[in-house]
Amino acid sequence: MKNAKTLVIQRQWCKGCGVCVALCPKEVLAIDAEDKAYPGSLENCIYCGLCELRCPDLAIEVQDARPEAAAKRGAGSGKDTAREAV
Ligand code: SF4
Ligand code: SF4
Repeated sequence: MKNAKTLVIQRQWCKGCGVCVALCPKEVLAIDAEDKAYPGSLENCIYCGLCELRCPDLAIEVQDARPEAAAKRGAGSGKDTAREAV
C-alpha cells in the first residue's frame, strides 16, 4: 500500500475559514468555489495532523486508510464521511 493514511474533509462542517490552508506546511489545501477546503495537492501531504488540530470546526481529519481501520470506523457510525481523497 502506498500510504497508510488519508485526509478526510467533512464538507458540511467546513466554513471555508482558510485556517488549514494557511497553516499547512506543504501547501496541500485550498478553498474551492463553494468555500470548502479541499486537498488540491494531496501528493505533498505528510499527514502531520496540523490541519486537524487547528480546524475550529473539526471538519478535517487525518485517518488510518488501512481497510481494517476503515471497517471499524464505518460500523454503525452513521457519520457522513464524504471523502475528498483517498
Ligand atoms: S480550518 Fe476547518 S473550517 Fe476552516 S477551511 Fe479548513 S477544514 Fe474548513
Ligand atoms: S496533514 Fe499536515 S501536510 Fe497534510 S494537509 Fe494537513 S497540515 Fe497539510
